[in-house]
Amino acid sequence: MTNTREQIEFDVLFVGGGPANLAGAIRLMQLAGEQNLELEVALIEKGSDIGSHALSGAIMDPVAVKELIPNYKEVGCPIENDVRGDSFYVLTKQCQYAAPFVPKYMKNKGFHVISLSKFVRWLASIAQDLGVNIFPGFAGTEVLYGQDNKTVIGVRTGDKGIGHDGQPKSNFEPGIDIMAKVTSFGEGAKGSLLREIATKLRLFDPKVPQTFETGIKEVIQLPESNFFSDNPVNDIHTLGYPLDLDTHSGGFIYEMKNNKVSVGLVVGLGYHNPMIDLYEEFIRFKKHPFVRGIISGGRVVEQGTRTLGNGSYYTMPKLAVDGAVFVGASASMLNAPALKGIHTSMKSGMLAAKAILEALSKEDFTQQTLYAYHDMFNKSWLKDEVYEGRNFAQALSKKMPAKIFHLGAQYLTRGRGFVDKMSIEKDSNTLSLLKDGDFQTAERRYGKHDHDDVLFLDKLTGVYMSKTQHREDQPCHLIIHNPELCVNECLKDYRAPCTRFCPGNVYEMEIVQGTQEKRLKLNPSNCLHCKTCEIKDPYENITWTCPEGGDGPKYTML
Ligand SMILES: Cc1cc2nc3c(=O)[nH]c(=O)nc-3n(C[C@H](O)[C@H](O)[C@H](O)COP(=O)(O)OP(=O)(O)OC[C@H]3O[C@@H](n4cnc5c(N)ncnc54)[C@H](O)[C@@H]3O)c2cc1C
Ligand code: SF4
Repeated sequence: MTNTREQIEFDVLFVGGGPANLAGAIRLMQLAGEQNLELEVALIEKGSDIGSHALSGAIMDPVAVKELIPNYKEVGCPIENDVRGDSFYVLTKQCQYAAPFVPKYMKNKGFHVISLSKFVRWLASIAQDLGVNIFPGFAGTEVLYGQDNKTVIGVRTGDKGIGHDGQPKSNFEPGIDIMAKVTSFGEGAKGSLLREIATKLRLFDPKVPQTFETGIKEVIQLPESNFFSDNPVNDIHTLGYPLDLDTHSGGFIYEMKNNKVSVGLVVGLGYHNPMIDLYEEFIRFKKHPFVRGIISGGRVVEQGTRTLGNGSYYTMPKLAVDGAVFVGASASMLNAPALKGIHTSMKSGMLAAKAILEALSKEDFTQQTLYAYHDMFNKSWLKDEVYEGRNFAQALSKKMPAKIFHLGAQYLTRGRGFVDKMSIEKDSNTLSLLKDGDFQTAERRYGKHDHDDVLFLDKLTGVYMSKTQHREDQPCHLIIHNPELCVNECLKDYRAPCTRFCPGNVYEMEIVQGTQEKRLKLNPSNCLHCKTCEIKDPYENITWTCPEGGDGPKYTML
């Protein structure tokens, strides 16, 4: 058993192996190569492999990958399909109505349908060939600061082999201190290290809080002859059912290769009804006659869940501090109206890489120097896209018909709308108190659990299909700050919504043996790392932290 903490030094450290940081790492090495500079660069990823925690729709606008790797198709970029045609439907309980036109943001003809897991694995292989040291299975759990207590000087990775009681076991391995002149944080939506730095260094403007959506997605294997055979349309978006038009949500169906299809439902976490069960809504979406018709005869081959930030421009943090930059979804780099964050995240990583290289050549890693990234952001197409969505989430949070008026005005004025810098509630503040009858309505809504283990899976089978695993004997990575609150207030006021917004069945209310008392029971091994609980809990009583590196889902094609 070793207790000494190792320290390793790099020039640049990337935390998170998503498209933002991988594109950043590749661009950094390309630029360094052009200047004959030798750099020591590392990238850590909490998943057991690059791509194992990657989940997206996904339709990718190729603008960023073209800039980064102009011959991306020739060098093996894994593309599932090209979009042949788009369609957009409003769903009622039994019918679908094709919209008279497809909104400009949803016009994807010529873009690529990809699996993000496969795409980031490919990016990682390119980064590795350029000399980036990639360490999957390492979760960044603590930010390291310099003596001034504000300059980021690296990241500590999580200890391995700690028992449930917090004591080291015989296989204990202490985490490593990875020191770097510059650290690029690209942890995706709701990054846990970003949360820590943001609190310490006040990165966010509290007036417009970051807001989120949760997406549940499956890859379904269809029979050889299916809806898409000879169909000019292979990119479908829906609005409405299973939720109402007041609730911000939407479905997507994208044709992948080899008769597979990507099917997902995204729900804005600003919803009001505490009885909404996100997973059951996804099942209801799949059972809608229109969707069922597309996927019938199919078999679910993988399932997963992830949140995405939809806040856009007004919710961006400061993009740099002394010793660090923030890229990708963590930094609100999303084209919100288009539900596209892959190309925007990549571009942010690439711009940050350029600023990092300038900082390295000046040997100056202060916020002032790294802010070149922000200046480049302001001059690039990335800003135009992120800026256009600046009031979009706020408009979606309104009820009908105000929602339509705001969205329409924003559509015609490139995002400005009637009110520029619209306000919005934090997602944790939007649940309404439970009303009489809410429970009965929910029972009717979700009562019939006719899951078939093939195409309509129950929650636990869904977790199984995400291949999620955690070492059982480790401290719980979900911190419930005040367990009493769960029973004394949350259960009464909202009927424990964590048992419904968590798609992994991690939270359960149980009766304490031999008493009438209830308590919250956690099944952290089921956790899909989506982070919905930290965002939506009405008392902000849950904090998500990284479990042991390598644990969690093992996505291969999401
Ligand atoms: C359901 C859904 C549908 C979407 N559809 C589309 C679409 O069709 N088109 C599109 O362009 N975009 C889409 N997006 C958005 C897009 O996927 C994201 O914007 C994009 O993946 C963000 O990239 P990123 O690199 O910032 O973060 P991520 O892709 O989230 O990657 C972050 C990585 O960092 C790792 N990580 C996090 N914390 C740590 C830590 N502390 N230590 C080590 N590793 C860590 C994570 O495991 C993960 O691998 C969708 C998103 C969702 C959820
Ligand atoms: S515990 Fe939280 S992060 Fe884990 S699956 Fe449930 S909602 Fe998602």
